[in-house]
Amino acid sequence: MTTNADLFARACKTIPGGVNSPVRAFRSVGGTPRFIRRASGPYVWDAEGRQYIDYVGSWGPAILGHAHPDVVRAVQEAAVDGLSFGAPTEAEIVLAETLVARLPALEQVRLVSSGTEATMSAIRLARGYTGRPKLIKFEGCYHGHADSLLVKAGSGLLTFGNPTSAGVPPEFVAHTVVLDYNDLDGVRRTFAELGEEIACVIVEPMPGNMNLIKPAPGFLEGLRELCTEHGAVLIFDEVMTGFRVGPQGVQGLTGIRPDLVTLGKVIGGGMPVGAFGGRADIMAQVAPLGPVYQAGTLSGNPVAVAAGLATLALIAAPGFYERLGEQTDKLVRGLRERAELVGVPFSADAVGGMFGLYFSERVPASYAEVTRSDIEAFKVFFQACLAQGVYFAPSAYEAGFVSITHDDAVIARTLDVAEHALHTVKGA
Ligand code: PMP
Repeated sequence: MTTNADLFARACKTIPGGVNSPVRAFRSVGGTPRFIRRASGPYVWDAEGRQYIDYVGSWGPAILGHAHPDVVRAVQEAAVDGLSFGAPTEAEIVLAETLVARLPALEQVRLVSSGTEATMSAIRLARGYTGRPKLIKFEGCYHGHADSLLVKAGSGLLTFGNPTSAGVPPEFVAHTVVLDYNDLDGVRRTFAELGEEIACVIVEPMPGNMNLIKPAPGFLEGLRELCTEHGAVLIFDEVMTGFRVGPQGVQGLTGIRPDLVTLGKVIGGGMPVGAFGGRADIMAQVAPLGPVYQAGTLSGNPVAVAAGLATLALIAAPGFYERLGEQTDKLVRGLRERAELVGVPFSADAVGGMFGLYFSERVPASYAEVTRSDIEAFKVFFQACLAQGVYFAPSAYEAGFVSITHDDAVIARTLDVAEHALHTVKGA
């Protein structure tokens, strides 16, 4: 049998670190990455035939569980008619119409192929629209890997303790102002000082790339007010939270309307789709209408769009988000109870189908608090769960994801495995 270790050794010869995206390499938790052969519903199976309950869900897209038959059929049917045309299709219009109909902040939308492209394009658009150079971002938020956003970022950069990437000349990030998430006074001071130069504020309105953190009361409202007052563009990066925390993302939960929104993950149902959109007057600046250039050979790819449309149709079913939220709550409530039983300092939080686990007494409210949680305890917990067939994200700084196929039996099995793992943490 070819083992995960065999595949990893082989991968490392031709792929840097053996992976095509860094957090997959298990570097921060140790051990061998699982090479996935197939997935169905809440499960993935590795190269050795071992089954795992999956809480990574492809880092968010798999909200329906893996390989939902309707989504797979839509992909197969689209593929038969051609894989890519580089010309417009009716399906793209339907996807744009669906997104615009569902998200209050979207008047127009442009499809791209990843979350990185969406945020990179939205930043360029905000700069082009305002004619200003600077952007405000928050420490621990991850917005993909465009140069100007790779400063004090979350996700893999935080996981590997190198939050600012090499290869980005200081001149490229001279216009990036990094502030503390949930610190509205810091934003206010920056606007007071640099207001005329600030093109935009980009924020994960509910960050999931420094583990899950919730906005303090008034923080997002304050960003909205400051951006309006100073003529800056407010960008909600909902690549992770869009259609994940609720049917209208964080903008639906809070009632706050950003000027631009970036999307990805769920809207592609597991295929490469991203999007950016928002106010029609701003979107009118995008080429070919306006001077802000943005393009893509595979943008609006017909196979990817088919997966997105099938996914968006299924998650619109009545009661979908109630059920998803209930299952996620059962998981985090159960984990908290088991940790208390075992006597391990632990907290957990959730919103919609997204959750955070923290080895700390209470749910962290800031980047500083998250980074003070017990990372060693997380590693022990992660490995003990993995050994018993439960696959949490291989990093203490990533949110987790529940799908609609994580039923009561799956959650119950997870909690039993977690309790066992918590005993291991306690004994470590
Ligand atoms: N923004 C956010 C909030 C994300 O979580 C991610 C990916 N995890 C991205 C942007 C980048 O998306 P992609 O990996 O598709 O480029």
